[in-house]
Amino acid sequence: MTQDELFKVLVAHCKEYGFIFPSSEIYDGLAAVYDYGQMGVELKNNIKRYWWEAMTRLNENVVGIDSCVFMHPKVWVASGHVAAFNDPLIDNKDSKKRYRADVLIEDYLSKIEEKISKEVAKGRKKFGDSFNEEEYRATNPNVLREQKKYDEVHNRYVAAEQANDLNEYRQIILDCKIVCPISGTCNWTDVRQFNLMFSTQISNTGESDDRIYLRPETAQGIFVDYLNVQKTGHMKLPFGIAQIGKAFRNEIVARQFIFRMREFEQMEMEFFCRPGTEMEFFEKWKQNRMKWHVNLGMGAENYRFHDHEKLAHYANAATDIEFNFPFGFKELEGIHSRTDFDLSNHQALCGKKIQYFDPEMGESYVPYCVETSIGVDRMFLAVLSHSYTVEELEGGDSRVVLKIPAPLAPVKVAILPLVKKDGLPELSQEVVNEIKYDFAYQYDEKDSIGKRYRRQDAIGTPFCVTVDNESLQDRCVTVRDRDTMEQVRIPIAELRQHIDEKVNMRGLLRNL
Ligand code: ATP
Repeated sequence: MTQDELFKVLVAHCKEYGFIFPSSEIYDGLAAVYDYGQMGVELKNNIKRYWWEAMTRLNENVVGIDSCVFMHPKVWVASGHVAAFNDPLIDNKDSKKRYRADVLIEDYLSKIEEKISKEVAKGRKKFGDSFNEEEYRATNPNVLREQKKYDEVHNRYVAAEQANDLNEYRQIILDCKIVCPISGTCNWTDVRQFNLMFSTQISNTGESDDRIYLRPETAQGIFVDYLNVQKTGHMKLPFGIAQIGKAFRNEIVARQFIFRMREFEQMEMEFFCRPGTEMEFFEKWKQNRMKWHVNLGMGAENYRFHDHEKLAHYANAATDIEFNFPFGFKELEGIHSRTDFDLSNHQALCGKKIQYFDPEMGESYVPYCVETSIGVDRMFLAVLSHSYTVEELEGGDSRVVLKIPAPLAPVKVAILPLVKKDGLPELSQEVVNEIKYDFAYQYDEKDSIGKRYRRQDAIGTPFCVTVDNESLQDRCVTVRDRDTMEQVRIPIAELRQHIDEKVNMRGLLRNL
């Protein structure tokens, strides 16, 4: 299956098994807005819990808050979002489709990179052990030609980005003959800036002063609550404030399922520290966050850091943690050293002192801060795309199984009476009563046991427990493992402990 096909299958699977539905589907949906179904919400909640507990419980100096979506409009002036939270958009006049000009150019550059990688792979195959990649890259004419092309476009692109030169974006698109994937033509409009914030009105007088925004990031809620938390929590620097919540962006191009949505959820943490110590904490949080990801067991090779070449004006260091999605390595989480930009701007605009008195230094200052910011939905997509597996079984059969890390699985255990009679449903109910206070479970007595196993595999349930006639005598049940399909016989009295070892979040957190 190609990566593209896998992505399509995944979207269909999400719908069929109650993970994700298009929003308002009975009215043909709403672009880039999705609902989480009965399975999806459980997985999403587990992801959030893993993050929340790793942040707030495992770090004594990190506390959580829950601020509102609506905030005073001045917040977004101070943060720079009103003036500069823009994307450069361009339309194709033939297909009438809209694109982000920067993304068109970046995709073009990625394709050149791919070509170079393929050339290098060819060389590696040809020369085997004696292959010297550095020398090959420096001498192979195909690689050199592509690299030259890449460097030229990349340099123009970085310069255009820095100068915010929209005409140059368009010129690069024309010069590189980048076509619209729908119409196949180069018939482009000018490039325009487009602010990504949604706005609405707080009262009904219709005055323009009433305009407020739906927050495009949760971070500003943390900044404006900084003083309250610091004072009421008697927090000493360095300390962090974590938050999970909805964010809204009017994304121009939203065609990648839950990778880029208009309403999404973020898990953000701002770590405040003494100016001059921020790089130490930037490094610490980089390592800490990577460990959190790798700890899930989805393969260290599927993550990489991507350091930013061009820094936002407020940042003095920035990196992304990228994940190997079905459509390639893409940003999953951002880690930024944001200096004192946000707190200083709020201080200037609100006219109140937002400072910390440092008893060791005997002076007050505006703290610096390091941010970690991850999208819940992107994390959901990372888990799901990595977990989706099609396995060939003996006898020519196959099964679709979601190998979701067990502590994140929506349902932990399924209780399945072998038949719907002879007292097995009653005994199964006893088993349910034994485990229901600890684990999310499903009880299923419909269809053959084989079909029921497939249904549980398809939603990623780590354990299936079968209750059979023998169970009535020996009070043991058969427990089938999702990944190995191995079956063991276990006394009902020991079932809870057996399941717990694998699915409890405690084990995951302990390894951090
Ligand atoms: P991108 O470059 O992909 O647009 P970004 O750099 O604008 O992302 P940030 O502003 O750094 O993203 O937001 C932090 C995190 O929030 C991202 O790493 C991502 O996981 C998530 N995120 C941002 N925009 C969206 C979106 N439209 N839909 C889903 N998740 C998003």
